[in-house]
Amino acid sequence: MHLRVVLRIPDGDTLVRDTLDGRWADPWGVPDESTPSDTWALPGLVDAHAHLARPTMDFQPGDVEETGARARRALEAGVGMILDKGWVDLTVLRMADQVPVDERPDIEAAGVILAVEGGYWAGFGRDVAPGRIVDEVARAAREGRGWVKLIGDWPRKGIGPVVNFNQAELAQAVAVARANGARVAVHTMAREVPAMAVEAGADSIEHGLFLSSRDLEVLGERGGSWVPTVIQMEAVIEQLGERSSGGRLLTEGLDNVAANLKTAVDAGVHVLTGTDLAIMTHEVAREAVRLWELGMAPSAVVDAISWSGYRASGRDAAFEVGEPANAVLFGEDPTVDPGVLAHPSRVIRMGRLVR
Ligand SMILES: [Zn+2]
Repeated sequence: MHLRVVLRIPDGDTLVRDTLDGRWADPWGVPDESTPSDTWALPGLVDAHAHLARPTMDFQPGDVEETGARARRALEAGVGMILDKGWVDLTVLRMADQVPVDERPDIEAAGVILAVEGGYWAGFGRDVAPGRIVDEVARAAREGRGWVKLIGDWPRKGIGPVVNFNQAELAQAVAVARANGARVAVHTMAREVPAMAVEAGADSIEHGLFLSSRDLEVLGERGGSWVPTVIQMEAVIEQLGERSSGGRLLTEGLDNVAANLKTAVDAGVHVLTGTDLAIMTHEVAREAVRLWELGMAPSAVVDAISWSGYRASGRDAAFEVGEPANAVLFGEDPTVDPGVLAHPSRVIRMGRLVR
């Protein structure tokens, strides 16, 4: 079975492709009448900060079956790749082993989130005891699928945000993760950790409200990622109360995010869309629209939810003959109106028409 597809690439060429055995091929034969044609195409949407194990912030162990259903739903919404940034257990990894790859997005995932005692939601994730960073990161890298997730800072009652790991520990974490084939994502919402994590060589900064332009330059030079998760940050501010000390800090941080989006893109940072727990992965287009509303150029927004995520993961060969036939198609150009991203007309996964 094959589909003939005319792919108009936003800001790029128009390609004609067939799908053959799940891979892109040069056009041949008579196309199927139901074949999508002349549509705006992206290789897939990317949720670069997901927690697929649960639908809400309830911190319960995940359910493999329900997690699989969420992955399928995300695929139907055009999501082609998920970077899961960890949970209390390995549900997402079990799901990825069980659900065939053509029925779900590609998945990279951190396993159990690493923090320190008192440095995250109590009992959530794994606390790294003093002196144990090398062993715990090595274990997490082996358990995960390409990522290790560290909670870099966390507020303590009556004190405010506290740094969980020192500079040497962060650098050790990055080195050990690399040696075990994994990348490192660092959660940070407060002031000190962004610079430390960038200096340590972290691959992805999660939230990163207080990244400086200097940090972004260094991060961009090595092709690192930044996932600001704006909708999640706004949800946390609402939860804390705008006038609380935490709410004020995060509001200041969000202003910094808005001011930094263009700087980051210009510096070569992969600025990526992430849902975290405020919205679900199949709604990731909402985060793209939020970045647009914060002043990001529409072309950069489309990059953030698609191409940039693939490049950051070393998968930039979309639509090349011989590559897996994955595409999400739109009736209108999303680089004119990123709102279109929420309404794909067709989704093709490994040559199969998902919708
Ligand atoms: Zn998260």
